[in-house]
Amino acid sequence: MRKLSNPARGKAMLIKTLLNKVERFKSFVYGSICVTLIAGVEALVIDIEPRRNSRPICPECGKRQRMYDRQPQRLFEYIPVWSFKTYFRYAPRRVRCLEHGVKVEALPWAYGKERMTFSYQVYLSRWAKRLSWKETADIFETSWDTVFRAVKFVVDYGLAHRSLDDVTEIGVDEISVFKGHKYLTLVYQINAGSRRLLWCGPERRTKTLLQFFQDFGRERGAQLQFVCSDMWAPYLKVIAKKAPQALNILDRFHIMRKFNEAIDEIRRGEVKQFKANQQENVLNRGRWLLLKRPENLSAKQTARMSDLLRLNLASIKGYLLREDFQRFWDYQRADYADRFLEDWATRTLQTDLEPMKKVARMLRKHKPLIMNWFKAKGRLSSGVVEGMNLKAKLTMRKAYGFKTLKCLQIALYHELGKLPEPEYLHRFC
Ligand SMILES: [Zn+2]
Repeated sequence: MRKLSNPARGKAMLIKTLLNKVERFKSFVYGSICVTLIAGVEALVIDIEPRRNSRPICPECGKRQRMYDRQPQRLFEYIPVWSFKTYFRYAPRRVRCLEHGVKVEALPWAYGKERMTFSYQVYLSRWAKRLSWKETADIFETSWDTVFRAVKFVVDYGLAHRSLDDVTEIGVDEISVFKGHKYLTLVYQINAGSRRLLWCGPERRTKTLLQFFQDFGRERGAQLQFVCSDMWAPYLKVIAKKAPQALNILDRFHIMRKFNEAIDEIRRGEVKQFKANQQENVLNRGRWLLLKRPENLSAKQTARMSDLLRLNLASIKGYLLREDFQRFWDYQRADYADRFLEDWATRTLQTDLEPMKKVARMLRKHKPLIMNWFKAKGRLSSGVVEGMNLKAKLTMRKAYGFKTLKCLQIALYHELGKLPEPEYLHRFC
């Protein structure tokens, strides 16, 4: 251990003054501060002592009880100071509780056996929101696992302390995760001014969404006014059962996604055909071209699109049918929209584009729920679920290195949940 020189002692006093400003723990005081090697790296170590005559707190009941004995010193990692790794050093007391026996005391800066202080966990988790978890780990010279534990701590806290009372509009969505048709069901709050991820769970089955409603609570379920969803049968069934008073809307984003899936299927079939006939693949890397709306294409893409439009391709026919259907969403009157949908379906069913015909049949089958869009018109913004879906996908991409679904769920709650943070250190970051 290195004794601090005079100027360093002055800095130590400064650190203590600052610490007392940002984080003062009742019944504890900051003691000496030194620079020492921790795991081969010079680090700042700040001793903490209990106030004289203070009694330790039983972790079970939160009552102050008599001290039993004292354990060896432990280090608790704190927020780096001037890029030194920084630790609190404290010898925890054991408390003899009349009710709970001998226990290690509850500490105000860390929980249980965790080696990180609450403050450091919150600090890391904030960085992990801006950067990838790996980058955060690299910058703070710590492990990916440490970052994960920090984020998990903050997320668990947030989930336990958030309020769900103002939720009256939700969107149910699914995203495919990892490879091989694994899904995650996501439920968002889509009220204007309060948009966030409420829940996510594995799979997209009936029991998945039932689990959401169970966690959400019957009373809150009864408050729902709008539920936007996909036309996925298990979802529709659960929504009808658990929120029968709500208007279930098959929204634009979800419907248009079906169109895109159909176009993609046609394109894949055609590309296969080109290969089989040893023809030039004119659709090479055409996927995004076909999935984008024309107004979102770049100048170069627009030129290529107009070349494609001259060819008699099934993919292009599908594309044009989709673009034609976009008009549906502009109708002000539901009866006109209804008639348009019927016309469109009739025309589509006369083509030989099987995937598009499937879409047409689906639209007819679910028409009442699609027409609910017009009942809610002006009250729901069509882009909300789409926007959240995009953010969820970005989170997944940024979070490469997620090995398990559990990690991914925590990352999604962390990024999209708008969770309240623990009260510690609002002055940092
Ligand atoms: Zn107790």
